Amino acid sequence: MTTTTARTNSKIWLSSPHMGGAERDFVNEAFDTNWVAPLGPNVNGFENDIETYLGNDVHAAALVSGTSAIHLGLVLLGVKHGDEVLCQSMTFSASANPITYQGAVPIFIDSEKLTGNMDPEQLERAIKDRMANGIKPKAIIAVHLYGMPYQVDEIHGIANKYDIPILEDSAESLGSKFHDVNCGTFGDISILSFNGNKIITTSGGGALVAKNKVLKDKAVYLSTQARDDAPHYQHSEIGYNYRMSNIVAGIGRGQMLVLNDRVGARRANYNFYKKHLCEFSELEFIAEPSGYFSNRWLTTILTPSFELRERIRFALQKENIESRPLWKPMHLQPIFKDSKNYVNGISEDLFNRGLCLPSGSNLREEDLVRIIGHIKESFNA
Ligand SMILES: *Cc1c(COP(=O)(O)O)cnc(C)c1O
Repeated sequence: MTTTTARTNSKIWLSSPHMGGAERDFVNEAFDTNWVAPLGPNVNGFENDIETYLGNDVHAAALVSGTSAIHLGLVLLGVKHGDEVLCQSMTFSASANPITYQGAVPIFIDSEKLTGNMDPEQLERAIKDRMANGIKPKAIIAVHLYGMPYQVDEIHGIANKYDIPILEDSAESLGSKFHDVNCGTFGDISILSFNGNKIITTSGGGALVAKNKVLKDKAVYLSTQARDDAPHYQHSEIGYNYRMSNIVAGIGRGQMLVLNDRVGARRANYNFYKKHLCEFSELEFIAEPSGYFSNRWLTTILTPSFELRERIRFALQKENIESRPLWKPMHLQPIFKDSKNYVNGISEDLFNRGLCLPSGSNLREEDLVRIIGHIKESFNA
């Protein structure tokens, strides 16, 4: 009897790691061959796997985190002290923090309703306004949130029109596509994350994705302390210690083998929630516009009111089920309260009414049934 009780109350996480099985073999191989260092066959192999998966002739550099990849990306785009960088407001703080590492100035751009990502109208308004002030933004950071691609054609169209490079934050969107082209290949520089909660994980890690090998090699050079070609340690530039470990990359190689299964499982979660909550017509799900393919990293719902969102969240919490409001927009964060922003109210509304539901690829149907049961109860409460 006690085991049944334990199981009905067992913790359900928002998004937990899901190993495929082969990860240990790659890690053991690293130990067996003594490649216990931030270089080695797993690092090269993992980069190859990413490049093959993404296609489009991209080149990947494996790094310690998605955040370090964004930082190096900004360095490669020439972002320096005092430069202005336009960044999607609705996102995780890791999209924006590296702007400040460079001593540059973040300016936040609100979302549109279709995908929840950067609003092309606010983006163009911001660019025109900054240029009218005599400052041309140095880069744009656009994010595919929760797996849903941003409006690629519109955002890149504007970036091209004003000749401003895009850093594509695809941390949440490995496996997502826009018109059959993989997210993580659109930016002048793109980044991926393999943190513990992402669609695949290396425990912690990231990658910078570049359009050519010269840029990738530059990223690797900067990530390994920027050593000149000399027998002694000589440096002509400031470097970083951002290279991925060969142990960690072994986990990544195993995870790449199951990436498509993980996308399938997360999409199935979304469909299951949508189907079993359809009686509540006031609940909104973010649908895929034509041409968009989301990895459905997290299933998100929009409730009609903040109060109902909170009622659902607390009801799940009481049952040991983790859910979370959508990202709190950067322009509403205490740390960025003095930053400029170009807003329309949409991201604030998404933050107030949105909830991320448990979405791990390792959820069982009985878990989903349990979650949906409690959501229904809070509706009827
Ligand atoms: C996770 C995440 C990052 C940061 O990646 P880390 O590997 O955790 O450093 C950046 N941007 C977004 C949108 C993320 O979700």
